[in-house]
Amino acid sequence: MDLDTNLSLLQLTCPICDRSSVRLFRKNDYWIRECDRCHHQFTEQQPTTKDVSDIYDGQYFQGDGAGYVDYLAEADLLQQLGQYYAEQLGFYVLPGSVLDVGAAAGFILKELLQSGWQGEGLEPNLRIAEFGQQQLDLKMTVGTLENYQTLERFDLVMMIQAIQHFYNLKLALHTASRVTKPGGYWLIETWDRSSLWARMRGRNWHAYTPPSRCHWFSPPGLERLVAEYGFQEIARGSPSKWMNGQYRKSVLRYQLMDKGWGKPLVQGLNLIPDPVKTPYLGGDIFWGLYQKTV
Ligand SMILES: [Zn+2]
Repeated sequence: MDLDTNLSLLQLTCPICDRSSVRLFRKNDYWIRECDRCHHQFTEQQPTTKDVSDIYDGQYFQGDGAGYVDYLAEADLLQQLGQYYAEQLGFYVLPGSVLDVGAAAGFILKELLQSGWQGEGLEPNLRIAEFGQQQLDLKMTVGTLENYQTLERFDLVMMIQAIQHFYNLKLALHTASRVTKPGGYWLIETWDRSSLWARMRGRNWHAYTPPSRCHWFSPPGLERLVAEYGFQEIARGSPSKWMNGQYRKSVLRYQLMDKGWGKPLVQGLNLIPDPVKTPYLGGDIFWGLYQKTV
């Protein structure tokens, strides 16, 4: 890659409010910056399309650390999460058409369809999308929101653990807005960098995993961002998420390996049996439901 291409990928101003930002710390060879005004956090060097395809090229769903460990083993937990969101949506929205962005195999989407929604998934990883098509009988498009082309309009665009991965946040949300019907909704779930757990962990917070994640939001920051696209917050909550032992160990291992003293503890993690579900109590995940007012 030549120097000019490199420079063009640097993000120095805040992608939400365009104000100046400062470098916070370096993680995985990426600088994480914070906006002077709204305190949004983001990576200085935005990943390229090639980085994105590398990230989602199979490894993400099977490798240790930043991605899901053996994602498919999480099926029952994702189904529970899908039921949770179908129920939450039921308080505010009548079922209609849904686009699930970053659908993975579509376990969450499948639960919505069983609650009266119709729709499809968009997923950058070919292999995992094929699983959804073949095993779950879902309509899936392989690709990213940044490059998504469709003439369809949806009542709901769902972005569960997706927005922090967008390599071009503005382009992605512009597309999301375009494909949302007037009066339609966005359901967004992401990590909360303003949570107590995130602040306690500081730079060792497990959600700081560039380049697979490029943005770290707070609920007010996200509300401000979606307002730029004409969306207004309707509801906000925190999902009750359960993790099985295998995923939990991976997250813990990833955190502990950051610290010299943590390494001996990694051995002890093998004492957690894989199939045991433990509640995820970090309190550092939130969701928001936003309605398009224009
Ligand atoms: Zn900002």
